[in-house]
Amino acid sequence: MAEIALVTGASRGIGAEIAKTLARDGFDIWLNYRSNSQKANEVKQEIEKLGRKCTLLEFDVTDFEKTKQSLEPMLLNNEIPFAIINNAGFRRDNLLAWLTQEEWKSVINVNLDGFFNVVKQILPYMLNKKRGRIVSIASVSGHIGVAGQTGYSAAKAGIIGASKSLAAEVAKKNVLVNVVSPGFVETDMLEGLPIDAILKTIPLRRLGKPQDIAELVSFLCSQKANYITGQAIQVNGGIC
Ligand code: NAP
Repeated sequence: MAEIALVTGASRGIGAEIAKTLARDGFDIWLNYRSNSQKANEVKQEIEKLGRKCTLLEFDVTDFEKTKQSLEPMLLNNEIPFAIINNAGFRRDNLLAWLTQEEWKSVINVNLDGFFNVVKQILPYMLNKKRGRIVSIASVSGHIGVAGQTGYSAAKAGIIGASKSLAAEVAKKNVLVNVVSPGFVETDMLEGLPIDAILKTIPLRRLGKPQDIAELVSFLCSQKANYITGQAIQVNGGIC
């Protein structure tokens, strides 16, 4: 039986590429998304063409109860993912002077509460099995200051801190917890950003591709990464 990987926010962009790469590398996929059923179905079909199973799970990671209701039936049926990829994310940029409370909360909700809401459901089962991988997608903004992104930076730095602490908590149960922090990657999320100006800040002088991120995530979920935990690894074309 193939191992299962749950990928959140996998209907588009980096999450879709992670789901397809993990399927290529032998995982069956639980594919979460918020609302874009058409895109999610397209990714499911690509995964099935690779000969792997794909279960679509439509829920909003900010909603603890809905997340629980969606995952619990499978968990109680002893279907336990080997890997959780916390990828669902959301950007709402504004200088703090102008940032509304609603903007601040929405960014923290999706990016940081989403981490808690998903991990909380599955972690007890992973601990019981004494095996598992948790890889969360943060951002270069969680490592360095980016004007206009106080909320997003706080959420992504929060994921890094939470992952390091969780790694220390669960290492003795053979559950490995890491973070991958992308730089600027070609997805819908870059819409409206000044790409020419951004390119000048990237030593490799190109945007990242979703595949650049997905390959590291898959490596961290493989047996080649048995001794890596508590790390936040940047994939950003050399931004520092
Ligand atoms: P994207 O193209 O905007 O795709 C976002 C994905 O997340 C979609 O599948 C969306 O589902 C899902 N999603 C959003 N809110 C959700 C929620 N509340 N519950 C469940 N799913 C939700 O984003 P991306 O660029 O691939 O970003 C993926 C991750 O990488 C994010 O965590 C982002 O912060 C991080 N990141 C991206 C970049 C970049 O340059 N692209 C850089 C650094 C970090 P629907 O399709 O249903 O809306």
